[in-house]
Amino acid sequence: MHWPLPLAPHEDELLSSFLVRVAHRHGLSPYRFCAFHFPGVPVWNRDIDRSASNEFLEAVATKAGLSLERVVQMTLCSVGARLGQGAARGPAPWINTVGIYHRLRRRCGLQYCPDCMAEIPVFYRAWRMSFVVVCNRHRRLLQDACPHCGMPLAIHRQIISAQLCHRCSQVLGRIQQDPDLSVAALLQAQLYFERAMRSGSVEIGGQPVSSEDLFQGARILASLMVSTPRVLQGAPQHQRLSLERARVQTRARILLRLADVLGIWPLEFTRAAGEQHLTQRSFIRKSVPPWLASAVDELSLGRTRHAIAPRRRHSLRAKLEKNRRCNADWRTTRAALLWLAASK
Ligand SMILES: [Zn+2]
Ligand SMILES: [Zn+2]
Repeated sequence: MHWPLPLAPHEDELLSSFLVRVAHRHGLSPYRFCAFHFPGVPVWNRDIDRSASNEFLEAVATKAGLSLERVVQMTLCSVGARLGQGAARGPAPWINTVGIYHRLRRRCGLQYCPDCMAEIPVFYRAWRMSFVVVCNRHRRLLQDACPHCGMPLAIHRQIISAQLCHRCSQVLGRIQQDPDLSVAALLQAQLYFERAMRSGSVEIGGQPVSSEDLFQGARILASLMVSTPRVLQGAPQHQRLSLERARVQTRARILLRLADVLGIWPLEFTRAAGEQHLTQRSFIRKSVPPWLASAVDELSLGRTRHAIAPRRRHSLRAKLEKNRRCNADWRTTRAALLWLAASK
């Protein structure tokens, strides 16, 4: 059965945005609309743009009068393959996390351009991608929360219009731009990644690299650079932020840094790695693609923690053994030695 009042999706519109618009067109909240048309299917307590099942997508296609291919295009799964491999249980690489908690959203993963929203209140797939931080058309930094109450967007809770915050009902309008961030430089950096995603390949230091390998390696670089105070000023050095969980201003700074490093590859990487004391060991547990691996191989090996630990263990074991051989009251001395070692 088709929906009585079908809508056409906009180009690059997110599935969730489309469902919210269709629900509003039928005069229902997205909850009631989906509960009626897809009974028993969890929709709004999932990141439906990332995790919709085939059965759900087929049902949407039938009811919306669209091809299955067009509906799949609205999801983020259709771009995932080009964005590199993530850990099995971690976030999808380069797709911002929205922090699903029941039907709430705890993270600012859905971005928007207030000027685009004022023209057409629709949310686009690009606004979920971690390397997208500026609006090409309006040449401004995207926003990732309500400018009035600071809440992350939860468009399925918007009752009247997609332009109004679901919590405070005020317009998702402009906030002042950060003057330290050059929009022109950000646009250029963003374009590099957008082209890579579209074309499937890119050049790094004159060598052709697949987009999967670019995104995989750039994510590793971002994870190592994000913890440095130089990029994330004021943050403690040990604090590692995941790229996909970072706010838009932080990602904008990471993007500029990545553009610097990739633009003069591998010289700028080698220089920055020296400055940040990165060694081969910094990359050891990461799945490093070949273009990055060849530059990492030029770094110093780095000290291993295990080089010291076995000696300590060995020296304790040796002391205990010697004590056993030489000392009649070896049990008492052993207890004292173990106590001393444990309390070091
Ligand atoms: Zn815009
Ligand atoms: Zn608000």
